[in-house]
Amino acid sequence: MSDFSTEPSDVQQAPADGPRLDELLKTHFGHEAFRPMQRQIIDAVLEGRDVQVVMPTGGGKSLCYQLPALASPGVTLVVSPLIALMQNQVDALQANGIRAAFVNSSLDPDEARAREQAAISGEYDLLYLAPERLMSGSGRWLLAQLNVARFAIDEAHCISEWGHDFRPEYRMLGSIREGFDGRFADAPVIALTATATPRVVDDIAAQLALREPARFQASFERENLYYEVRPKHKAFDQILAYIREHADSDGIIYCQSRAKVEAMAERLKQNGVNALPYHAGLDNRQRSENQHAFIYGDARVIVATIAFGMGVDKPDVRYVIHADLPRHIEGYYQETGRAGRDGLPADCILFYSAADRAKIEYFIEQKESPTEREHAHWQLDQVIKFAHSTACRLVPLIGYFGETHGGDCGHCDNCVKPPNLVDATQDARKLLSAVARTGQRFGLSYVFDVLRGSKAQRVLQNRHDQLSVYGIGADQPKGYWGAVADALLEGGNLALTADEYRTAHLTPTGVTVMKGQAAVKIVQSRAVSAAPRPSKPAPAKAEPLSPDDHRLFEELRELRRRLAQEQGVPPYVVFGDVALRQMAIRRPTSDQAFLGVSGVGQTKLRRYGPAFLQVIRQHADDAPGEGPVFIPDP
Ligand code: ADP
Ligand code: ZN
Repeated sequence: MSDFSTEPSDVQQAPADGPRLDELLKTHFGHEAFRPMQRQIIDAVLEGRDVQVVMPTGGGKSLCYQLPALASPGVTLVVSPLIALMQNQVDALQANGIRAAFVNSSLDPDEARAREQAAISGEYDLLYLAPERLMSGSGRWLLAQLNVARFAIDEAHCISEWGHDFRPEYRMLGSIREGFDGRFADAPVIALTATATPRVVDDIAAQLALREPARFQASFERENLYYEVRPKHKAFDQILAYIREHADSDGIIYCQSRAKVEAMAERLKQNGVNALPYHAGLDNRQRSENQHAFIYGDARVIVATIAFGMGVDKPDVRYVIHADLPRHIEGYYQETGRAGRDGLPADCILFYSAADRAKIEYFIEQKESPTEREHAHWQLDQVIKFAHSTACRLVPLIGYFGETHGGDCGHCDNCVKPPNLVDATQDARKLLSAVARTGQRFGLSYVFDVLRGSKAQRVLQNRHDQLSVYGIGADQPKGYWGAVADALLEGGNLALTADEYRTAHLTPTGVTVMKGQAAVKIVQSRAVSAAPRPSKPAPAKAEPLSPDDHRLFEELRELRRRLAQEQGVPPYVVFGDVALRQMAIRRPTSDQAFLGVSGVGQTKLRRYGPAFLQVIRQHADDAPGEGPVFIPDP
């Protein structure tokens, strides 16, 4: 703790022992228990140490500085890169009756000044600031007058050039404790990120000049996320079908380019899906309107480039679909991590095609610097390993971050519905022969045409209808040959040139396959499985809702929507789906029972309890005899 504390505080200053922290957790945040690591992190923070937290998205990082802010005097300054992120966090804190505010460029000057004054008067336990604001003249003026308990640097990977969203403004934070006549020399710094590459982790500590930080690195396995890779044939139809099967759910669809985002969003709309686009080519107003609509539940689907996501805290995203191949695991992991933050099950689905891979390789070859090219190829290789894996996908996924996984996660496609591998050696030989006989001068699509005996003019002009390989693959559709080619590309038996023509040629190992000296297998089908098969203690318990529970859930959801609209906050700020599900199942009718619901603290009990309890009672009156036996609370 810093030793310049002078302001009296209305926060009780007793040492924060265990029971007291548990109590703060329930009364202020409504949570029953700490998540893994939260308690140890909070202890280190309260000891006044510098702390570095690496925890996946949805792991519950915010609580690690929010709860200490309530348990100690002074204000915790939170540095956060995005306005939307600050807004969401502060909304959620205020809904819990916690004294928090943000100051950033979205405020008019009068409002900003009023909040700064309030901060100086000690009215906040948490104050959120953008980095450039904090280090500006006015920020320094403000800081000099605050009783700062500690600094929390959220999304701390933004300080690293090795990270994927480096922000130059963050660099200034390196000197955050300097100046001010040494007043902040002892103020602890907490750095939090979901990016776990060792290089970035070390760089964060170095850039922020952390002093013997207590380091906490949580596992990157998110057990409520189901990972699946599907072969991409007709991406739009495949995605539309998925969305229709999940019509009640909100989801994100990532596409590689702005044009694809626009086209996908437009076609989805034409097909009756409430979808909106998001990419850096839209003007600011449109972009934030669309993001707002998604967060506030007015649009079910957001179709986006990777520009979308940082600062989106929406906890009830039920699926993240990648319509195109991502370029690196780091980004892919972050993007899919936006699913299921509330801990309920969510899907992460990647549509993969060899053509996408070729496209990215082509782009990489355009890079000037050989080292950059090499690095980009390596990164893509890791993605391909993940996409092509026929074993547990968690191994390559979190292996990328240096974490070893034993496999058999129970929540990826290969574990839940293992692939049936079939021998495709004969067909692989046919394909390789066709590549060789046509002179290794053509793209795969042309080679497939020759194999399938196409009468295309180009084939006839080249007199490739005269070849022995012409038509020997007519018994199989093009998609099948695509799968064989994928297997050969992945196995390094076939390669494509890096230029725009993407012509196919044999590698030395490809020659051995062609000669019949090595075997090739492809995924023919998958075992059918009704539900994920967790091999560990069930992680995300989604208690099933009976039809009547479901009706009540919908009524509660409607009430939540109305209250959220009245208060101008996203629905999840009122209550998350986890809380509504528990209400629908347990049907509390007293304040005491209502407090037992996850996410209900004192403030929310007071603010929302009466309205929700009334809907629950009303539901019981309207539907006597339906649903579970109803026992009123004493
Ligand atoms: P992160 O910043 O690591 O992505 P958040 O801090 O946004 O994660 O937390 C993710 C979700 O988990 C939030 O909805 C939050 O309310 C919830 N949460 C955090 N800690 C707990 C806990 N101890 N018990 C239940 N829910 C929690
Ligand atoms: Zn698995």
